[in-house]
Amino acid sequence: MSNLGKYAPSILIFLLDHDKVKKTDLLKVVPSTGTMESTVKRLEEQGVIRTEKKYIGRRIIYISLTEYGHAIAGQFKNINEITNSKSSGQYKICPVCGTKNDEDAKYCKNCGSKLDK
Ligand SMILES: [Zn+2]
Repeated sequence: MSNLGKYAPSILIFLLDHDKVKKTDLLKVVPSTGTMESTVKRLEEQGVIRTEKKYIGRRIIYISLTEYGHAIAGQFKNINEITNSKSSGQYKICPVCGTKNDEDAKYCKNCGSKLDK
C-alpha cells in the first residue's frame, strides 16, 4: 500500500469520516493541488476511490470510497487510532470498518464483524 503515496491515509480517513466529498475539500488534508491530483489519480487507479463528475452551474467532482477503499480506510484508521491512544486500551477497533467498540465486545456494533480477543 506504500505505493499509494504519503497522503493516501489522510485522504482515506477523511473520506471515511465524510462519506462523499468535493475533490477540492481534500485540500484540507493534503498540502497542495498537485499532491492531491496525483494521489487521487493513484487511488482511483487502484480501485480505492471513485470519482463522479456533476454539473451544477460548473463542473464539480465528487469523491467517495469504493467498497475496497472502505476496508483499506478502516485499516488506516485502525492503525491511526491505535497509535494515538496506545495506553488507554478502553475499546476494540473493528479490523474491517475501524469502528470503536467496547473492549468486551465480541462483534462490531457497526458492521457485525467478529472482533479478536
Ligand atoms: Zn466493523
